[in-house]
Amino acid sequence: MVPDWIAPIWVKLMSQPERLPHALLVTGPMGIGKRVFAQELARRLLCERATGTAYACDQCASCTWFASGNHPDFRFIAPESELQAEADASDSKNEGGDKASSQIRIDQVRPLADFISTSSHRHGWRVVVLQPAEGMNLHAANSILKLLEEPTNNTLFIMVSDEPNKLLPTILSRCRKLALNKPSYESARAWLQHQAGKSADACLLDASLALCSGAPYLAAELAQGQAAAVYAEFVKHLAQGSAAQDPISVAEKWSTWCTGRKNERATLERVVLVDWLQKWLSDVLSHQFGGAVRFFPTQTAAIGKLAGQARTESLLALMDDLVRFRAVAHHPLNLRLFFDDLLLRYQRAVAAPAPAR
Ligand SMILES: [Zn+2]
Repeated sequence: MVPDWIAPIWVKLMSQPERLPHALLVTGPMGIGKRVFAQELARRLLCERATGTAYACDQCASCTWFASGNHPDFRFIAPESELQAEADASDSKNEGGDKASSQIRIDQVRPLADFISTSSHRHGWRVVVLQPAEGMNLHAANSILKLLEEPTNNTLFIMVSDEPNKLLPTILSRCRKLALNKPSYESARAWLQHQAGKSADACLLDASLALCSGAPYLAAELAQGQAAAVYAEFVKHLAQGSAAQDPISVAEKWSTWCTGRKNERATLERVVLVDWLQKWLSDVLSHQFGGAVRFFPTQTAAIGKLAGQARTESLLALMDDLVRFRAVAHHPLNLRLFFDDLLLRYQRAVAAPAPAR
């Protein structure tokens, strides 16, 4: 099933399956359910029982194949790093190994030519889900382009993208764009509560949703398990301001969140931590000007304390620095140095000015 806020689009699309294009580009903000939509659509098209706007039946032979990850008429293409992370999550004995590529490479895409040129095994659709589409390197993108230029019947490419502006214009022009929107706060919050269960901490859910800018799937990830523990520690570090913690040891801690230890996947990407820090600072600044604490509502006391002591100019200067940090957050810079620098700047910015002599 797709979440409520995507259901109307589902109904519209599946009311006229004969009008499905050869390639669909599913876009929209991160964490709102694009990937779930792509999977559900693939499953539904391959299902041998479902008709009309119904979802896949979960029971037919095709649905069973799909659930086992071995459907002969389905291909899932993602960067090796993502596939690896999923495999590691389901196999705790994995010892890690070489660093997996964060790009979709041509050797992953090349076999698709054979896949779409042979007749389907189950006499229905052939579906390829490719995500994130902007993860394709240039060779892979050119190879996909060739396939899109010579469409075959009953084949659907579902490309999922957070950043369609990074795709080749020639690919964009070959796809029908399907833009999914962020849900209203109310539906996102209700969905999140349902996922987390009745006993979930309401404050943590509120904070997660605010911090993830209303993106429910990101918020759900944040509100549970390892990510929730990281969030709590992150907030603790920032709330201490310039006091207590030595920034070097905090930087070391943050680095481990972004690399993952042996047998563990990384909990966060560094850009997420920069984003959180930007939001934290925006709350401190907002508090200084008498505004609301929007992103970290459970931390109003700590934020108020920092707002009372830090100089506005220092906070604004750090905001500028963070824009630059964010711009290089995807570069393979040394993580420790990256966070050392970031945290030293943070401590300086939130410190109370030295008293005049
Ligand atoms: Zn089925």
